[in-house]
Amino acid sequence: ALHTDYIRDHIRTVPDWPAPGVQFRDITPLLQNPKVFRVLIDEFVHRYFDVRPQAIAGLDARGFIIGSVLAYELNIGFVPIRKKGKLPFTTVAESYELEYGSATVELHTDAVQAGDRVVLIDDLIATGGTMMAGKRLLEKLGATVIEGAAIVDLPELGGSARLRESGLPLFTLVDFA
Ligand code: IMP
Repeated sequence: ALHTDYIRDHIRTVPDWPAPGVQFRDITPLLQNPKVFRVLIDEFVHRYFDVRPQAIAGLDARGFIIGSVLAYELNIGFVPIRKKGKLPFTTVAESYELEYGSATVELHTDAVQAGDRVVLIDDLIATGGTMMAGKRLLEKLGATVIEGAAIVDLPELGGSARLRESGLPLFTLVDFA
């Protein structure tokens, strides 16, 4: 509770961004302060140290920041799941619905091997659509997503409940209503 309160205290809420009525939860203060950055990453390191996943998959773009440091600390590989059109090699793709329109994420076909146990990480879970699409991409390549991880969950949007109902265990540090 001490660590998660410390982490919560370093998340900034920006009202009306990127649109009126949205309370954006900004994790950049967590990264800026070296002590809280270390406490944050260590929460995930301790969670997965004995689990020995084969890889960390990070969701574009803030999932890259925490996911790559986590993978480095666990001495395992990091694979990026990117927004459409960014990855140069052959890819698999998944599209999902947003409030207005849709989004597509991609993963290199050689990013993971069939049978790999992968932890999928992002900064925040809102509707859960992004993490669900990432899970489907990894599963297309035969990998198993053993857990979804995020700093922040917005439980009132129902995304984390839907992800858990789909059979994906989740590990999140801070809830915001
Ligand atoms: P979802 O797909 O609706 O769960 O939205 C989660 C994705 O949108 C993640 O990649 C987040 O980085 C981003 N996102 C949505 N809302 C916020 C927020 O308040 N702060 C930071 N990222 C957000």
